[in-house]
Amino acid sequence: MKQNRAAILFFLVFAFISCIPISSFAEQVTTSDRVESGVNIREAASSNGPVIGVLSKGDKLKFVESVPYWHKVLLNDGREGYVSKSWTVLIPDSPESPSSIPFAVHFVDVGTGDAIIIDMGDKEIVIDGGESTTVLADYVKRVGLIDGPIELVVVTHGDSDHWKGLARLLGTDGVLDAPYAALEFWEPGYDRDCNSSSDTGRASYLDFINSVKTKVPAGGFKRPLEHFHAPAVTSNNPQSITLNTISHAKITVLHTDSTPSGNSCSYQINNAAIVMKVEIDGIKFLFTGDANGKERDENSPGTPKYVEKLLLDLERNNPGLLKADVLKVPHHGSETASTQAYIDAVNPKYAIISASTRHHLPKDTVINRYTNSQRVILRTDTNRESNKDHIVCAKREGQVYCNYADIYE
Ligand SMILES: [Zn+2]
Repeated sequence: MKQNRAAILFFLVFAFISCIPISSFAEQVTTSDRVESGVNIREAASSNGPVIGVLSKGDKLKFVESVPYWHKVLLNDGREGYVSKSWTVLIPDSPESPSSIPFAVHFVDVGTGDAIIIDMGDKEIVIDGGESTTVLADYVKRVGLIDGPIELVVVTHGDSDHWKGLARLLGTDGVLDAPYAALEFWEPGYDRDCNSSSDTGRASYLDFINSVKTKVPAGGFKRPLEHFHAPAVTSNNPQSITLNTISHAKITVLHTDSTPSGNSCSYQINNAAIVMKVEIDGIKFLFTGDANGKERDENSPGTPKYVEKLLLDLERNNPGLLKADVLKVPHHGSETASTQAYIDAVNPKYAIISASTRHHLPKDTVINRYTNSQRVILRTDTNRESNKDHIVCAKREGQVYCNYADIYE
């Protein structure tokens, strides 16, 4: 495996080193669009600190480092100071071309569950948070990924392996001194009511949702998501949307359902899932949550049902709609999804599997369906040397590359 290791090293140095984290390679700081005259430069990273200068609208200062809520900058007289991230933006050092947008998509190894961060310089989208309360928050802090508030947080559905890590990140569990704010929050709106008195997960999930509601600005709390953005499977009109706060990302809400059907509690919850396509700088990502696609005990190739059937019906009227460069494999590689017809329609170059170690997922039978000489399968449970199989995707020289990120640690 030594040869593989060397190849990975080589690949990572050339493909990724300038992309992780993007913020670390930004060269200058300037004022954001909403600044009218200038931004105070403070002696310390505190709004109570003495003002030692002003960054006038449109002027630039050399970026030194990122700290929570503040950019440390180098003044022209050699002193260092701090400007608020709320009023300033980073200018990347070496974008590929003037029209290119540096970005990196992180699939965080949370052990059980999904936790994805789309980092576009000082803009971020977070999709799910994993079951661990600590892993995502620790990763974000260590890598220095999030600048200012998170522009969009998405919980694909109400299972604990998708939201518990967000409780720590967003501060609803009250542990972090300086949790991250979210400007917008999307969730399917299904209360995971399984008509069972033993469903203790429901109460804690609703506590989380109600707490998030108090923290997100009015109008940014979008639950059920379908009331704000009709999913394409319902509207039959797969139009992409662009949020005012994130001009780089074209988002298509393909599926979300606040009244899901299903023969069991878990099928119902997973049939609520938000499935969305995100296109950044021409690279297409398909995020699927735990959306169902087949009966668990049905062998390959599987007859498309549930969400996968709806998506494939949509694809028939909109050929190429599901095609993506990178697919977050649905439901941790469970046999409840990934029919062969669905995989063939998406036809991803990279199939990323956020594993579920607690549920012994992914299944080998599912991996077999993805296996193809043109495709790279990466999974968060490969137990590499670091034992943290974070996966990062970025664009270099016009193409997307994905690989393990432990090389940077
Ligand atoms: Zn899950």
